[in-house]
Amino acid sequence: MRELLALCVKERVLSDPEYNCPICGVELAYFSRYPNYICDLCVSQATDGNGRALVFFNTHMAGGLVAVYSDTNEKRTGHGCFVRGKQCYADAAYMGGIVLEIDA
Ligand SMILES: [Zn+2]
Repeated sequence: MRELLALCVKERVLSDPEYNCPICGVELAYFSRYPNYICDLCVSQATDGNGRALVFFNTHMAGGLVAVYSDTNEKRTGHGCFVRGKQCYADAAYMGGIVLEIDA
């Protein structure tokens, strides 16, 4: 286990470039799995195409994604959303939680 961890750390140092949120520019950790992900603050500003605020939840512990309009608690289908006018895609993160990536 310790060897595995050391290997991961080494790989991180060697291969990971600097990464900044593609929307607001804040410094973030780089994850090769999510090469275009945006920061939590930007995630909290997600809206649909009409500017209605959206929040995202996991549908169960291991993942799954549901989007809900924060004004009415109405469920919304689909993964597409907008943050500051940029098109993004929401998905359940590999280890649980939510990740939003900018549509490159
Ligand atoms: Zn950001």
